[in-house]
Amino acid sequence: MTSTSEHTANIASLLDESDPLRRYRDYFVAPAEDQIVAYLDGNSLGRPLAATKGRMADFIDNEWGARLIRSWDERWMDEPTRVGDTLGDIVLGAASGQTVIGDSTSVLLYKLIRAAMDGSIRSRRDEIIVDRENFPTDRFIVEGIAAECGARIRWIEPDAATGVHPEDLAGVLGPRTAVVVLSHVAYRSGFLADAPAITSLVKAEGALMLWDLCHSAGSVPLHLDEWGVDLAVGCTYKYLNGGPGAPAFAYVRSELQGRLQQPIWGWMGANQPFGMSANYEPAAGIRRFITGTPPVLAMQPLKHMLELIAESGMPAIRAKSIALTAHAVTLADRWLAPLGAEMVSPREPTERGSHITINHPKFAEVTARLWERGVIPDFRPPHGLRIGLSPLSTSFAELEAGMSAVREVLTEVL
Ligand SMILES: *Cc1c(COP(=O)(O)O)cnc(C)c1O
Repeated sequence: MTSTSEHTANIASLLDESDPLRRYRDYFVAPAEDQIVAYLDGNSLGRPLAATKGRMADFIDNEWGARLIRSWDERWMDEPTRVGDTLGDIVLGAASGQTVIGDSTSVLLYKLIRAAMDGSIRSRRDEIIVDRENFPTDRFIVEGIAAECGARIRWIEPDAATGVHPEDLAGVLGPRTAVVVLSHVAYRSGFLADAPAITSLVKAEGALMLWDLCHSAGSVPLHLDEWGVDLAVGCTYKYLNGGPGAPAFAYVRSELQGRLQQPIWGWMGANQPFGMSANYEPAAGIRRFITGTPPVLAMQPLKHMLELIAESGMPAIRAKSIALTAHAVTLADRWLAPLGAEMVSPREPTERGSHITINHPKFAEVTARLWERGVIPDFRPPHGLRIGLSPLSTSFAELEAGMSAVREVLTEVL
């Protein structure tokens, strides 16, 4: 070990010792050491909680196995809104009755944007604003809806190393804007948009604001009610550790629910699902955004993570997230910049979410070799190595072991 890495290893262990959330790391399934050295991709797929194993077994034995179909009446019909309310309370800053779990983020984006367009076109608002750096599914869904509704897309072209700032809306937002679709934390740069300021601007123009919270739910404190957000979606398998393909969530501000008609009319979103009525009548409230049978089994692990988040508190989670990304930036500057790597995430901690991205032309090759050694960041083309830091499951020592491996492998391939 060189003297610089000894020095920083001391810092990492000091940071771990003084971390008030350090004990929560032990709540997650611990893979064998030959499996994982450093997991730096909790922003793509959060790790499972150890408690989930036993609780899934209980669910299978007691609810699914013993109560069988009676569970629909006893508990399951309300599970999407019950878990939604808990998520709203603990993570989203949303009063009850505005959040529902189901579908994927992509499908919920479709349902909510399409619902927003439906009313807007009648009032001559036929433009959707989205940015070129947004996640592909967000852009694709907007493209599809624009084609379907004959709407026009007004593209924001943000700086790739940051993201959308309030000023960027100046040329595109106007009386024809129906809905603005932005990511709160940019999936590539990690830039944290000023959601309250942008939401106010959009609403002052009479348009609807939809936030994609995939990279902020569970890592950045959210106050959707207070910010006046109209619509939001997000996935639960990233910082909410719901598991692969866990269902997403949708938030619809209560005043809007009666005015918005979602496009996929299914029996589970109808006012009497078992009335077997001749025609579709939407349910009252947030239930009208449901379409088919809720994915009850797949939303169980999320509940366990929400308990852990409630116990730790979003402010403490955010504080650790900032400390982790700050340490990652320090290590990137010290170890990787001399090898030609470039930080493409904001340096100001209040301007970023819980990951950083570093560019280097060799990072595709480096990532493949790192994965073989159990060091798991992710790679986003063309050159981005993304270091995702899930506050409850990542230690500073783990981060440092991972960054040290990046330096080693990059040195090997250069
Ligand atoms: C991860 C992510 C998604 C994922 O959408 P799915 O429908 O779950 O595949 C969507 N939007 C953003 C911004 C994401 O980061």
